[in-house]
Amino acid sequence: MRRVEISKGKLLIIGFGPGNFEHITKRAREAIQESDVIVGYKTYVDLIQDLLTDQEIVRTGMTEEVSRAQEAVRLAELGKKVAVISSGDAGVYGMAGLVYEVLIEQGWRPEGGVEVEVIPGISAINSCASLLGAPVMHDACTISLSDHLTPWETIVKRIEAAAQADFVIALYNPRSGRRTRQIVETQKILLKYRSPDTPVGLVKSAYRDRQHVVLTTLDQMLEHDIGMLTTVIIGNMSTFFYEGLMITPRGYQRKYTLDQAVQELKPHQRLQVEAEPWSLNAIEQNAENQAKESSTKLVHPAELAQEALGLLKAKGMVETSVMTDLPTRPPVSIFEVAVSPGVANKKITPDQLALIADMAGEKGEIEYTPHHQFILRVPTDEPKQIVDRLTEAGLLLSSIGDVVQLKACDFCHGDKGEAIPTAEEIHRRLDGLHVPKELKIGFNGCAMACYGAVTEEIGIVHRRGTYDLFLGGKKMGRNAHVAQRVAEGMTADEVIEAVEKVVQIYAEQAHPNERFNKFFKRVKEVAGFQYQEEKKPVIPELACGD
Ligand code: SAH
Repeated sequence: MRRVEISKGKLLIIGFGPGNFEHITKRAREAIQESDVIVGYKTYVDLIQDLLTDQEIVRTGMTEEVSRAQEAVRLAELGKKVAVISSGDAGVYGMAGLVYEVLIEQGWRPEGGVEVEVIPGISAINSCASLLGAPVMHDACTISLSDHLTPWETIVKRIEAAAQADFVIALYNPRSGRRTRQIVETQKILLKYRSPDTPVGLVKSAYRDRQHVVLTTLDQMLEHDIGMLTTVIIGNMSTFFYEGLMITPRGYQRKYTLDQAVQELKPHQRLQVEAEPWSLNAIEQNAENQAKESSTKLVHPAELAQEALGLLKAKGMVETSVMTDLPTRPPVSIFEVAVSPGVANKKITPDQLALIADMAGEKGEIEYTPHHQFILRVPTDEPKQIVDRLTEAGLLLSSIGDVVQLKACDFCHGDKGEAIPTAEEIHRRLDGLHVPKELKIGFNGCAMACYGAVTEEIGIVHRRGTYDLFLGGKKMGRNAHVAQRVAEGMTADEVIEAVEKVVQIYAEQAHPNERFNKFFKRVKEVAGFQYQEEKKPVIPELACGD
């Protein structure tokens, strides 16, 4: 290898953005102007023609990238300031890597060798996305379909991986005169993993004279013109069209439940830590004060998207040519709700069952749980309709997640129904209340307690007009145990108040995710009810041969 001699030359590797003056950075302009020589593909040199003064120009063809890089290095070593220009960003399928490769081949080192400055530019993924709306937004990747320098097999692997992992994908170099099959193969691979309805944006010559923007779908994209100057942006599973814009929401499909469906957030409440319970800040803050929160509300993602779109539209920021038969915007959220025939009623009518199926539709899901209820999960942004129809049909809806749920027995089909009003009152006061961890209150109408109230975290057993209260049961796991009987012979009012107080203290004082039985064991006393230490299991001495 030849050692490079010390020289005052400099390589300025410049990304000049999509192609118009407004989107060239200040440093890129300065760098072009301070250079002695411009090395670049003809079309690119023409694009920046108006910025040039008396620079020497080395124009080369599109495919002569390697010789262009070699020439640039040679001139810099002669002591010249050489601008190597790329469209977009020089480090994205541009000249930056090639120039470094040529330098490294020659044994170049940063200290002592020619100076190199890489000047960033706006890459096609960003300029094209801005014309489509906000299709990138979430995790995205770029894939070049050019198999001149990369084996097609490798490209296929990358398309497969990106499609599987639900990345938004920006396809560069999608098609040229000779390379026409790559985009067809790419579409086939993508269709294995993504819906044919997936929104796709085609942007040709972004911010240049012949700019053309098309919104289409994965199955129809090949019906449009795709060429060397096009970037193809494939949406992820949440991307949607709205009024001629292609939008990928910031979050993925979120689950929300009954309380968020009935009380949505006001604008000033959004983006507060409490509205983002999944964030790191929220987790930390929760540790300090979750107990003080009686409810945690989620921002409805569609609201955020709509607000952003409203602003975009108001500013008239986006002009696009839009197809008219585009798919409507898919729901971005999954509504989850527990459905049962009633607090005490365990009989569901065929009509009610049919309605639940109807509400689930083709894309929804119905799960029957060990807690005598159906969990209905429906992709929708308009849960109110569902809530209204199920409620009208006499079904009882409950929130799910870290909330209180009352699990009553069927009161022997109502024969022992004396305690039903008490159960209903507890349901009215506490069901759906947010707590540090899901909390079931078992309520059984007679001393048989056949619905297992005494194994729940809180159990209430009605017995000849009075109530016994049980706390701290654990239904599952290898150390499952029944609850401790902490009070007997309470009146209806006493038991309602006691349970309300116990739940309130648990909600205020438990650690995040701490189940009630652990909380009771830790604090030893809740609302005056004492925890009794369990007896440790002992290993009996077994006679030999037993
Ligand atoms: N360095 C460039 C990419 C060069 S590869 C960048 O960062 O943007 C060439 C590919 O880039 C083209 O085939 C096209 O897919 C994309 N591209 C570059 N400029 C574009 C523009 N103005 N509009 C749309 N696509 C563009």
